[in-house]
Amino acid sequence: MLNEFISTPAQLLAHLEALMATSDKNCALMLIGLHGLRRMGRIFGARLSEEILVELLGQIHRALRPDDRILRTGRFEFAVLIPGLLNRGHAVLAVNKLAGILDNPIEIRDKERKLPFSIGLSLSPEHSTDPEQLFRYAEIAVLAAKITQTPYQIYTQDDLAAIVTDWDIEGDLDRAIAQDQLSLHYQPKISSRSGELLGAEALMRWHHPVHGMIPPDRFIPVAERMGIMPKLTWWCLNTALRERIEWGRADAELSVAVNISALDLTDERFIKSVTGALGIWDTRPELLTLEITEGSLMKDIALSATILKRLQSYGIRVSIDDFGTGYSSLSYFKQLPADELKIDRSFILNIPEDDLDKHIVSTIIQMARKLQLDIVAEGVETALMQQILLELGCDIMQGYHIARPMPQADFITWSATHS
Ligand code: C2E
Ligand code: CA
Ligand code: CA
Repeated sequence: MLNEFISTPAQLLAHLEALMATSDKNCALMLIGLHGLRRMGRIFGARLSEEILVELLGQIHRALRPDDRILRTGRFEFAVLIPGLLNRGHAVLAVNKLAGILDNPIEIRDKERKLPFSIGLSLSPEHSTDPEQLFRYAEIAVLAAKITQTPYQIYTQDDLAAIVTDWDIEGDLDRAIAQDQLSLHYQPKISSRSGELLGAEALMRWHHPVHGMIPPDRFIPVAERMGIMPKLTWWCLNTALRERIEWGRADAELSVAVNISALDLTDERFIKSVTGALGIWDTRPELLTLEITEGSLMKDIALSATILKRLQSYGIRVSIDDFGTGYSSLSYFKQLPADELKIDRSFILNIPEDDLDKHIVSTIIQMARKLQLDIVAEGVETALMQQILLELGCDIMQGYHIARPMPQADFITWSATHS
């Protein structure tokens, strides 16, 4: 019953079609995404995450009936097909059973952890008798579960209306700049020791006329696929440098950090567009930091490093973002042009109660110090986290405990009271 190989969508649909044809009762399709396990795999390695996945699949297999099917659809995704259900209530019982299994804490390196997951469920004939539609509805439901952070969601017509698809984003994103729907929010970065405001990170916001606020995590990957990321970065860079001037702090010059995408570093013209923007806004290069995620640097390390080195030679600061989530080792940073390292917030989140994460953060800080990098902790949510990070020797902090990202006008007010 357990399919060891990853099924293609066509194979999944064929199975679904066969099951629906032989069952005269209701069928349920569940799509299960194990995003907690995906994250765990990035930290502890693929072997351990694969072992856990196989164990979980085994437990689910034992909980199911002989006619049910499990198909693995991706590294951290699988589908469960359940035929012969008497009614919707039975589908709910089945999904609760699976959610119960996935919700059990798992022992990872001597520590019990719960790994977040999302299940999306669609039903035949209630939602559709067409396998392809049913699959699409289960995909929408799994997205709805992820967004609402609930263990599972059964497809509803409302989800379809509420969930902004990549298709919608593609259609509208290109016009977003021209129609002035994008803006930047600014989140303060402060000195750990003195509490002094050092600068802010610019974070993009999209106010869609129909769908409301669409988060950057949602539209940036689509922009990357569409190839319009250079345009968005260019907009962001110029807006941030222009708005920075309005911060108007004569006593201390605040720096601004702009996030750049891996794709920006695949074209040497990017260097000109950054230095050009600094010229237009008459800004000293030291006051601009470019944040680039660790993971995206790995794609074409030689070219990215060349471009970053050139930028750095002008005095622009380079920050390695989301540090700890990629696969690189710290020693590798000797070759990278970096001035700052931002420890990913997933490590910061658990430091008050998780000694392992605290140890990881402490090790990163000690090694980064040897490489003479500034160390920023992002996602500082409580006073306790701030205290621990200060003790561990972290230089700069950013997070909800200090301030949330805010619109330009609010940031100006905030900065006036935090010198
Ligand atoms: P990031 O660069 O890691 O940005 C930090 C994210 O963490 C922001 O989410 C911020 O609102 C959130 N955050 C800050 N403090 C806390 C905290 O204490 N707790 C928690 N839980 N979260 C906190 P946001 O604004 O939704 O941005 C998400 C991601 O989208 C960013 O992650 C960045 O990778 C990307 N992004 C945002 N703006 C841009 C942009 O202009 N260009 C590019 N290329 N990427 C951008
Ligand atoms: Ca960032
Ligand atoms: Ca980050």
